[in-house]
Amino acid sequence: MSTLSKVFLFTFSFASWVFHTSAELQTFAHPLKSDGSLSFLVIGDWGRRGAYNQSRVAFQMGKVGEKLDIDFVVSTGDNFYDNGLVNVQDTAFLESFTNIYTAKSLQKQWYSVLGNHDYRGNAVAQLSPVLGEIDPRWLCLRSFIVNTELVEIFLVDTNPFVEEYFTETDGHKYDWRGILPQKSYISNLLKDLELALRESTAKWKIVVGHHAIRSVGYHGDTQELVTQLLPILQENNVDFYVNGHDHCLEHISDRESPIQFLTSGAGSKAWRGDTHEVNRRGLNFFYDGQGFMSVQLSQTEANIEFYDVFGNVLHRLTASKQLYSSI
Ligand SMILES: [Zn+2]
Repeated sequence: MSTLSKVFLFTFSFASWVFHTSAELQTFAHPLKSDGSLSFLVIGDWGRRGAYNQSRVAFQMGKVGEKLDIDFVVSTGDNFYDNGLVNVQDTAFLESFTNIYTAKSLQKQWYSVLGNHDYRGNAVAQLSPVLGEIDPRWLCLRSFIVNTELVEIFLVDTNPFVEEYFTETDGHKYDWRGILPQKSYISNLLKDLELALRESTAKWKIVVGHHAIRSVGYHGDTQELVTQLLPILQENNVDFYVNGHDHCLEHISDRESPIQFLTSGAGSKAWRGDTHEVNRRGLNFFYDGQGFMSVQLSQTEANIEFYDVFGNVLHRLTASKQLYSSI
């Protein structure tokens, strides 16, 4: 193990993570800054050994991460292209993650979900604690909760919802170990999520998944999530739904609730020009190039920004809450 890794291990040994169960979803407590605020970056669809501007995006993430003094990074999945990891020894883990996100500010916990490309390899390998021994920043589970008291982040594995991955696999093999039978897996997951959301007392509630609920990008809306996941989010005062999958940055407002749909799936290869429905109602911002997103939260305000590969702020969203709500 390198000296650097040892330093990280020491850094992360603060691991004041408190394990407790809220419903069945594993919860990790993450401390706030001393002033009670929190900031983090969101990146998706990235692992290409630095290619397709992955390294350039990583460089800008480092700069913004330092400026905002980020507390952690959230990955919306498709962590390793094209077909996830082969096993825990796969060098792609070092070549696409450890050796790319090298900036000092990015040496924080990474909370990751799986994307469909991760399922085309050994999905279970990405969940293994062995990866956390190789690079202590890494934490990827199927569905789990990060609780900072100020905000509760519900990370949801959206892959099992997508019917075509089971029925029209287009020659791809998906690693469904631990998921089958699909129907009962989904129904248990939704039950656990609903309970955890209902019980949450956090000021802000953010749900993260790989697939978009609403998107005007290449893949568009994920109908299974519109039908099965969205109603639960609408009923439980979720503020933001954050996803990747479409290789773009976008911000769409829900027409039926205060939920804002935020796509950060532009960590490397982008699909320039591959869009439709540019006139959709509720669409506030769409950028089909590379980049990432930052989130800054306090008791009363959320400030979300989208950056391109040069570090320019392309779009900003602010939301506020009353400090005290009256009955
Ligand atoms: Zn994807």
